[in-house]
Parts: sequence; C-alpha cells; structure tokens
Amino acid sequence: MRVVELTSGIFHLQGGVNIGLVVRDGKGLLIDTGLDKDAARRALRVAEGMDVRIEAIFLTHAHADHFGGAYFLQRRLEVSTFAPGLEAAMMEHPIMEPVFLYGGAAPIQALRHKFTLAKPCRVDHVVEPGPQAIGPFQVEVVPLPGHAPNQMGVAVGDVLFCADAVFPAETLQKHKVIFCADMDDALETLKRLPDLPYAHFAPGHGPAYEAGEGIAAICRANRERLEAIREEVYAATASPQGTADLVQHVADRFSLQLTTPTAYYLTRTTILAALSALEGAGKVKTVVRDNRLFWMCA
Ligand SMILES: [Zn+2]
Repeated sequence: MRVVELTSGIFHLQGGVNIGLVVRDGKGLLIDTGLDKDAARRALRVAEGMDVRIEAIFLTHAHADHFGGAYFLQRRLEVSTFAPGLEAAMMEHPIMEPVFLYGGAAPIQALRHKFTLAKPCRVDHVVEPGPQAIGPFQVEVVPLPGHAPNQMGVAVGDVLFCADAVFPAETLQKHKVIFCADMDDALETLKRLPDLPYAHFAPGHGPAYEAGEGIAAICRANRERLEAIREEVYAATASPQGTADLVQHVADRFSLQLTTPTAYYLTRTTILAALSALEGAGKVKTVVRDNRLFWMCA
C-alpha cells in the first residue's frame, strides 16, 4: 500500500483498491475500506503508524471491493459509517450485488465470491449531497452517479475522493468495457468532474490527478470509451440482435476475452446500460419474436 499525501493531512492509500485517509488532531476519516479485512487492516496500520484513531468511514458505493473491509473495522473500532442511500441498502444486504448482476434471480455460485458478494456492514448515517459534518470533519458530499446508481464522492479541503467515477488508463487498457450501471449518468458525471473546484482528484483505482489537464484528459478517455461502446452497440442493431449477441459483438470489437461468468455478467451490465441509453434517446427498440427479445435500431 503506497501512502501518498495529497495535501497536509489528506492521504491517498494506493493499492488494488485505493482508500482515502483524512487526519485532523489525531482523528481519522477513511474513505472506502478496500475489498476485505486484509485491505482494511493495511489501512488501519497506516493510521495507527501516524497515531491516528479512525472515527468515521465514508463508503462511496456498494461494490464489494470498496466496502468489503468495513465489517472488520466496525468490529475492531468504534466508528460511525456514512453512505449514500440505495448504496447503503446494498451494503447492509450485499446479496443485492450478485442479484443485480444476475438479472434479479437468485445468483449462481460463480457470482457468490468476495469480489461480488461482500460481508454485510452497518450504515449509521445515510448521506445526501452537500456540505456536512462527518464526525469531526467538515466535508462536501458530491453526487457521482453512473458507475453505480447512487455513487457519491467526498471532498475535504481541496481534495475530492471521486470513487469509480473515472478509471485509470491501465484499466481502460485491460478491461476495455468498463463497468457502468447508468450510461447517461456516467457520461454526465465525467463531463462535470474536471470542472469541480478541487485541486486533487483521488479515485478508487490508479493514481490521483491534478486539476486542469490531468483530470480532464483521463475523464475524456473514459467518456470516449463509453461512447465507443454505445456506438458499437448501436451500429450492430442495424440488424436484429439478442443481448448475448451484443455482448459477444462488443467484446470481439474491443479484443476482450471473457473467461469467467463474473467478467461476462459485468460486461453484460455495461451493454445493457448502453441499450437503455439508446432506447431512452429513441435510437433502439425492443422486439419480441419467436420467444426471443431482439434489439433493433428504431
Ligand atoms: Zn465500483
């Protein structure tokens, strides 16, 4: 875990999944907790090494890799936990994550592992956007929907912890079809993010970015990727396509090899998000024929 001090007392703990640590007068606020107790313990050790007592946790969204370590910290420490509505419900009932991925039915075993099914945690305070006190810290809660339905970031001073609103170049390169629940919201969030009045943007994966061209360039790259996915989906619907056909088509176009049910269902969610964006814009429609559902350009 690499400890990067972005400004005085505000740290970006960079690892597989990043964790934010804000320190004031020996008290600490964590932003996200990592995947599991090992990740959470590493963050706790960093805080303890600074003689800091963690008093509060802010969880940005209900993906297992961001809140999976929270149960461990709640057992070990007296902490208050804050999270956005809807996301909070999923943190308390984490089975909802694989249920969503699997289309609402009881999920298959292959989707019940720690990357998609975290241990439940308690949420003490459901947050709304805007300025507020989180324990002893004055923060601004910033809505960043799209990647997850009600994802929110948290700003302290001139640092915005922006969760998975933006992925690093490495993730765009490796995963190609980045995860997205609501494509219109995700694109809008990416458009807005670089203009927010902060000096540092600290995401959930990869490095932190400086205001200006640093954050603007990576937001642009993310937007272009989502638009390219949407465009591939749209172009394919010139002839009727089943959802599975579109998943295969887009994966092929991006030279993506899907090798596990988890990767398949994550990719399928982004394709479905592209389809609802296109449907909402009046560009594609559904047709049910021969007991199959087809997508066609409208
Ligand atoms: Zn996420």
